Amino acid sequence: MTGVLANSVEEFAANLSAVSARIEAAARSVGRQPEEVRLLPVSKTVPVDRLRMAVAAGMTQLAENKAQELALKASQMAELGVRWCAIGHLQTNKVREVARYATEFHALDSTRLADALQRRLEAEGRVLEVFVQVNTSGEETKSGLAPGELAHHLDHFATLPNLRVRGLMTLAANSPDEAVVRGNFALLRSLRDAAVAAGHQRVRELSMGMSGDLEWAIAEGATTVRVGQALFGARTAVA
Ligand SMILES: *Cc1c(COP(=O)(O)O)cnc(C)c1O
Repeated sequence: MTGVLANSVEEFAANLSAVSARIEAAARSVGRQPEEVRLLPVSKTVPVDRLRMAVAAGMTQLAENKAQELALKASQMAELGVRWCAIGHLQTNKVREVARYATEFHALDSTRLADALQRRLEAEGRVLEVFVQVNTSGEETKSGLAPGELAHHLDHFATLPNLRVRGLMTLAANSPDEAVVRGNFALLRSLRDAAVAAGHQRVRELSMGMSGDLEWAIAEGATTVRVGQALFGARTAVA
């Protein structure tokens, strides 16, 4: 599930085609079109010199889980036109970086954070596409709204003009048990279906699946998979 520690454009291209092949096979095996699934590369901890190779190999969107690292890399690589995405739990005092540099944010999980982002986005004159994080595994170490808290939060987020809620996001249980992991993904899908039925027509996407579980996520309807180690190699640093 982990790719080689790529250190050339060719090696990044090889990892990229291997992951694309996994996505394609997973989609076809459940009767979905591979184009329905977007690959979002997760570049946290990877230094800028290697990221330039990854971009040259065709990765045009990159996701980071720390606001400072996102801001630094986005500034240093500004001329490349990368679409930057913020995926990690965000403290309200870090909204400035995300409002300024990110196009997309995958970990919205509170009213306070949404309101803080709205204020900064308005000041920056930007809009942010957001995915609302749900804690589908119930693990206390994981961020995200409890499933029962989602509906009224979506109603509030829909009133914030500079946030565009595009979908839901989750991290499944860190378990080898397919039924457990797929159950978490299936729960996110049913919450999405309920949101659409309740009138949130634009809440369509499901951001779920990583290097180790993307096949199960695609089988359960993922429209975005967030993949780090299969593209960049094993992370040595804690992330
Ligand atoms: C690191 C991370 C990923 C990618 O995990 P890999 O195992 O490297 O594919 C996906 N989503 C989030 C929120 C992450 O922090």
